[in-house]
Amino acid sequence: MSTSVTGPFIRLFGRYLREQGLPVTHQREAVAEAVFGAHAHLSVDDLERVLRERGERIGKATIYRTLDLLVRSRLVEEHDFGEGFKRYEHRLSRQPIHEHLVCLECGRVIEFRSPEIAEVEGRVRAQLGFVPARHRLEIHGLCRECHEAGAELPHDGLTCPIETV
Ligand SMILES: [Zn+2]
Ligand SMILES: [Zn+2]
Repeated sequence: MSTSVTGPFIRLFGRYLREQGLPVTHQREAVAEAVFGAHAHLSVDDLERVLRERGERIGKATIYRTLDLLVRSRLVEEHDFGEGFKRYEHRLSRQPIHEHLVCLECGRVIEFRSPEIAEVEGRVRAQLGFVPARHRLEIHGLCRECHEAGAELPHDGLTCPIETV
């Protein structure tokens, strides 16, 4: 993706940094550019790879700190899909409200939309007077490719029966 597409987002991030009294550095902009330029749910390892491919030499610590700032600026959302690491996606994507499918075999994250969830929120509000702000729906399982390739859902209980008690 070209800089012209991500430019407005980079400028928003720059404005946030200045408001916080933080310098707008090339490294911070490069990390933001990598996040905004990807329609994906990136791990820190993914980001490190993207940046290296672009010829940027940015350490993990700087990537972590910049992601922290991006999350606090609310331009980027942090996800914990229970994989043992966080993933990041920018909140200005084509689908601002979407849910996630997480493949247990290959780690792919697939987005889908669910108008039913909005209905549930509306119903809960009407019935319980609760004002919803956000929700989280993740379905973990096997993506089509992994399922068709013969992957099977892990059965933790069978391989480790003592822990199922
Ligand atoms: Zn898969
Ligand atoms: Zn997403």
